[in-house]
Amino acid sequence: MKTFLLYGSKDIRLTEKPIPEPGEDQVLIKPTFTGICGSDVHYFQHGYCGNFVPKRPFALGHEFAGIIQSVGSNVKELKVGDEVAVDPSMPCGNCKHCRTGHYNLCLSMRYFGSASCDPHIDGAMGQFLVAPAVNCYVLPAGISMAQASLLEPLCVAMHAVKRVDQIAGTSVLITGGGPIGQLILRVVRAFGAYQITVSDVNEFAREFSLKSGADQVVNPLDEHAWKSCSNIDIVFEASGVPSALANGLQVTRRGGSVVLVGTLPESFSIPGNLIMNRELKLYGSFRFANVFEDAMNMVAAGIINLDGIVTDTYSFDKIPEAMQRALEKKGVMKVQITL
Ligand SMILES: [Zn+2]
Ligand SMILES: [Zn+2]
Repeated sequence: MKTFLLYGSKDIRLTEKPIPEPGEDQVLIKPTFTGICGSDVHYFQHGYCGNFVPKRPFALGHEFAGIIQSVGSNVKELKVGDEVAVDPSMPCGNCKHCRTGHYNLCLSMRYFGSASCDPHIDGAMGQFLVAPAVNCYVLPAGISMAQASLLEPLCVAMHAVKRVDQIAGTSVLITGGGPIGQLILRVVRAFGAYQITVSDVNEFAREFSLKSGADQVVNPLDEHAWKSCSNIDIVFEASGVPSALANGLQVTRRGGSVVLVGTLPESFSIPGNLIMNRELKLYGSFRFANVFEDAMNMVAAGIINLDGIVTDTYSFDKIPEAMQRALEKKGVMKVQITL
């Protein structure tokens, strides 16, 4: 089988390797649609992603859906030809976090297409991969494989939204109009937020947000624009930019909530007294837990709309070009690979 492996910064090479054999509780999958994530782009650009530094070449791609090719001897619920979405999380199942339902916090988490675990697990930028059967969800009517490859980032968005107790009837600001910000926008709309603002320095992201149903957009570089934005109940920081967080904290109402979902720099200063004397609530949000099936069913039922998120589609053999395109900010929301 053919696989694209990441060797280093801007260095992705087509290689041949044997088709893996599924273990007794695993299935062999042919990924048919794979989304390129911000983290994939980071690996491609720098050769590493934050603390995750690859020790050997590996295949990226953790946002995927595909078709079952063969099943292990213990697998009863899946059969050859099933179209499945795959939850890329493989937590240990035994630690305190796993046992209390917070498996996204598992320190022994293994994840497709990530150098966060050693050995690294090849992702969907190869023609085939094996996955635990329990990670596979047969697609219900109403959701395509192309849409299903957006479920992983949708789950990241849904987990962030679920960090706060109530969304219905609230005003929301999303700082950062990239794919995660856009998906948060669609989730909070589905969950009943009454007013949604998106801030982004990028005009394309602002226009995109309006088309996605935002009530208003703000260019954070425009000081006057912030005047229209105050007393926000809940802020989602999805840009990873410290000044966006500072702006978000400023416009949060007293007693309001701020959820950090973007990857921020290791350390920077924040207005501590503002958080203290306004009794702001700060939440971290990392990957997701216990939302995959709900997210899938909400898309299938038409409650969450994923239309337009994918702006560019490339065939498997054009993966290096697809990565390069995903690096560009102009006119790109989500780049998808199809096999
Ligand atoms: Zn992702
Ligand atoms: Zn665990």
